[in-house]
Amino acid sequence: MASGDSDVDDDYFSDFGDQRGGSDDEDFYTGDSDDECDINKSGGDYMDEDGNDDDDDYGEQAVEETEDGGSEMEKTYVVLTEDGIRARQEEDIAKVSEVLSMPPGFAAVLLRHFKWMAGRLQEEWFLDERRVRDAVGLPADGAVPTLVNRRRLTCAICFDRFSAGGMRSGGCSHFYCVTCWRGYVRAGVGDGARCLSLRCPDPSCTVAVVRELIDEVADDEDRERYAMFALRSYVEESNRFKWCPGPGCSLAVEFVGSGGDQINDVFCSCGHGFCWRCGEEAHRPVSCKTVAMWLAKNVSESETATWLLDHTKHCPVCRRPIEKNFGCMHMTCRAPCFHEFCWLCLEPWVSHRFCEKYRPDGSEAESEINSTEEERRVQAKASLDRYIYHYERWAANLKSLRVALDDMEKLEMSELEKMAGAVRVPATELRFMTEAYEHVGEGRRVLAWAYAYGYYLDPERDATKRQLFEYLQNDANASLERLHGCAEKERKELFGAAAVDFHTYRAYRDKLAGLTKVTRRYFENLVKAFAGDLAEVSSSSETAS
Ligand SMILES: [Zn+2]
Ligand SMILES: [Zn+2]
Ligand SMILES: [Zn+2]
Ligand SMILES: [Zn+2]
Ligand SMILES: [Zn+2]
Ligand SMILES: [Zn+2]
Ligand SMILES: [Zn+2]
Repeated sequence: MASGDSDVDDDYFSDFGDQRGGSDDEDFYTGDSDDECDINKSGGDYMDEDGNDDDDDYGEQAVEETEDGGSEMEKTYVVLTEDGIRARQEEDIAKVSEVLSMPPGFAAVLLRHFKWMAGRLQEEWFLDERRVRDAVGLPADGAVPTLVNRRRLTCAICFDRFSAGGMRSGGCSHFYCVTCWRGYVRAGVGDGARCLSLRCPDPSCTVAVVRELIDEVADDEDRERYAMFALRSYVEESNRFKWCPGPGCSLAVEFVGSGGDQINDVFCSCGHGFCWRCGEEAHRPVSCKTVAMWLAKNVSESETATWLLDHTKHCPVCRRPIEKNFGCMHMTCRAPCFHEFCWLCLEPWVSHRFCEKYRPDGSEAESEINSTEEERRVQAKASLDRYIYHYERWAANLKSLRVALDDMEKLEMSELEKMAGAVRVPATELRFMTEAYEHVGEGRRVLAWAYAYGYYLDPERDATKRQLFEYLQNDANASLERLHGCAEKERKELFGAAAVDFHTYRAYRDKLAGLTKVTRRYFENLVKAFAGDLAEVSSSSETAS
């Protein structure tokens, strides 16, 4: 492998290029990357003046492939507000209450016992009603969840005597005064979600204390807290729902598809994306296992990681400290320097395309190794470098994602309207900008996790896999940088001017739409490769050797 490296690379990559629909297109697109900031110059490359892309080879292919690939997955989940969840829960309870003809409070404890799966509850119920009743503490058939004393009795907690109507029981023969009940419920609610399985205070009795009784005896505050625990149980104890873990978000996601296998990333209306299986930030196309390993690694390396994030970088030319305010990695130094470089590798932006390849410092690795201690030092440094390389890129992409999400929010809040006004078109015409941002977000996310994945590829054992992976990643990355720069900086430049020329706007629109399309395709390829665990590698390397 070592001697013929570059030959294999070339054959292999051109094979792959053909397979994806022509290496000519490939050259065409990478060729104009230098011009990315020149709107007028490159805008026309993507579409005709009239915005029609029929004559454009590349555009047509991209469209065909998208249609064939069917990239839009059927939505298997819905986002719900707290009220929406409450309505679902009430509905479920009402159904069971009707089918088993029992008060809603009993239906609720039964449902909860079966993790809110009405189907399983009914199965078990008709199989062995007695056993189910005993398990949750339901009194015999026909019982009610709250009873009032008919004659004068002594409360077994406070030992005061109460006349008829002054006491309650949970359907059993153990009556307590309302004040004692209130205290009992208060203590139960103070105990957290366990209040949902509250039983009769009599130590020998297992009758369940349910909502109807709580509502009668508890004060407003405890009643509300009880209802809150009940609602949370509905989401947290069932497999159908999950709270969105996004900061400050109170929405929940309901899985509505059949079979849980096809669901991974879900996106809440708050903008937060998370993995349905592990709850971490959305991490398609990387597996939960890799994500867990990577996050654990970051914890164990937290000192290095924190240092890296706080560490100021300097412009490679004028040495002034630089601050990153934009989402894309393309940095331009302040006046009078104006040096353009890549934030991650600090290489000049013009020659930046291959910045993404991790190159261990060869000089040191090949130097004379005198002792095992020295060897160990070199290895330790190399493995730390490797980690830093991947960590920095993972973190930078997630940070860019956040910037993009913020931008998108601003777009939707007011900027779209403003820009539409500036070019005198309806705001709906600017849909292409939101779409561009959607793909920027998606791309940042995929790239970030691709770096975590890349870290676990063994430099030697997985060499072939790495080649394909880095190749796809480079393409996706370069395209994403162009798209992000265009959606972000160029847009701000264009609309920062007092008056926006309509032709300039149109050229910009065509360019951004074109970049969106191309970037999307690159990422589809990257994600597809992951779906097969980069399995294409083995077959391709066989033909290459
Ligand atoms: Zn009492
Ligand atoms: Zn009792
Ligand atoms: Zn959310
Ligand atoms: Zn996961
Ligand atoms: Zn500078
Ligand atoms: Zn770079
Ligand atoms: Zn740019």
